[in-house]
Amino acid sequence: MMRSLFLYLSGAGWARAFVTHFFLSRRAARRFIAGETLTEAVDATRALNEKGLMVSLDHLGESVRDRAMALQAVDDYLELLDVIHQYQLDANISVKLTQLGLDIDESFCLDNMRRLLEKAKEINTSVNIDMESSKYTEATLRIFRALRTEFDNVGTVLQAYLYRTEADIQALAAEGATIRLCKGAYKEPADIAFPEKSDVDKNYIKCLQLFLTPENLAKGAYLKIATHDPKMIEAALTHIREHHINADQFEFQMLYGIRPETQLELVRQGYRVRVYVPYGTAWYPYFMRRLAERPANVWFILKNLFRR
Ligand SMILES: Cc1cc2nc3c(=O)[nH]c(=O)nc-3n(C[C@H](O)[C@H](O)[C@H](O)COP(=O)(O)OP(=O)(O)OC[C@H]3O[C@@H](n4cnc5c(N)ncnc54)[C@H](O)[C@@H]3O)c2cc1C
Repeated sequence: MMRSLFLYLSGAGWARAFVTHFFLSRRAARRFIAGETLTEAVDATRALNEKGLMVSLDHLGESVRDRAMALQAVDDYLELLDVIHQYQLDANISVKLTQLGLDIDESFCLDNMRRLLEKAKEINTSVNIDMESSKYTEATLRIFRALRTEFDNVGTVLQAYLYRTEADIQALAAEGATIRLCKGAYKEPADIAFPEKSDVDKNYIKCLQLFLTPENLAKGAYLKIATHDPKMIEAALTHIREHHINADQFEFQMLYGIRPETQLELVRQGYRVRVYVPYGTAWYPYFMRRLAERPANVWFILKNLFRR
């Protein structure tokens, strides 16, 4: 119930205006967000890089319905790529297609992605397309596949809670794609997504095993194992050890502020780990999705409200 409530609130304009207005909620959101400015994002990235962690930077924003705003998002990301290069950060970028104009016009969005990928290629980094709600799955995969015919530095995400993911992941792995596998963070109906967490977990492990095969890896397929769940991580490590998969053929990914000790432990064990670092002023829906994943986080906020 709490999950549904927070996912509803993530899209509610009135709640956004109410929550983002308060200094205290901004402070609470800082648990999951590096800051509102590019400088804060750079500082957070440097600190993580110094600990051996790679980074994916997300300049927060989504559901953009205005061309000028989508073009502004492209400019912001181009500036971010310049800064990644200037400071030699070990970082790539993560973007949402609805931030780059997918709701306005698909070909406009595709052109915006091309601009980012060209710049990213110039500075030897990559662009990852986040996966949003199921309304966008088909279009996201269509755009991803179109971009892959022109660029080799693009990846996208599949969500284990969708029934279709088993087929999608097999097809994309056979195409040698770069895929981030996560459980899925949106509210989806039972006719397209597993309602039970135990089934999502089972499907996560199944999809991971289907992806990480010698045949797929030989084609250049690369998996980003995005989860904080110790059971998923253990299942991944078991599969990786049993199949003698090299540490440079996959990476673990976790969100900024969640399980930092596990991130470092995996680095100590010799695995690649990338932290997803969001920043910017449009943090509200991202913050609500993090609360939906773990309603216990609400206590953290309440504690903050009463702390001086
Ligand atoms: C790098 C990365 C990128 C992602 N990109 C996308 C995307 O593009 N599209 C999408 O739909 N989803 C994305 N997600 C979110 C994902 O779908 C899940 O909603 C989220 O990761 C929680 O699932 P879990 O695998 O951590 O397992 P869960 O079973 O939800 O959690 C396992 C354990 O992890 C810890 N944990 C999990 N979430 C939180 C939290 N919010 N606060 C504190 N502790 C927590 C808790 O200890 C919990 O018991 C991404 C996740 C990661 C890590």
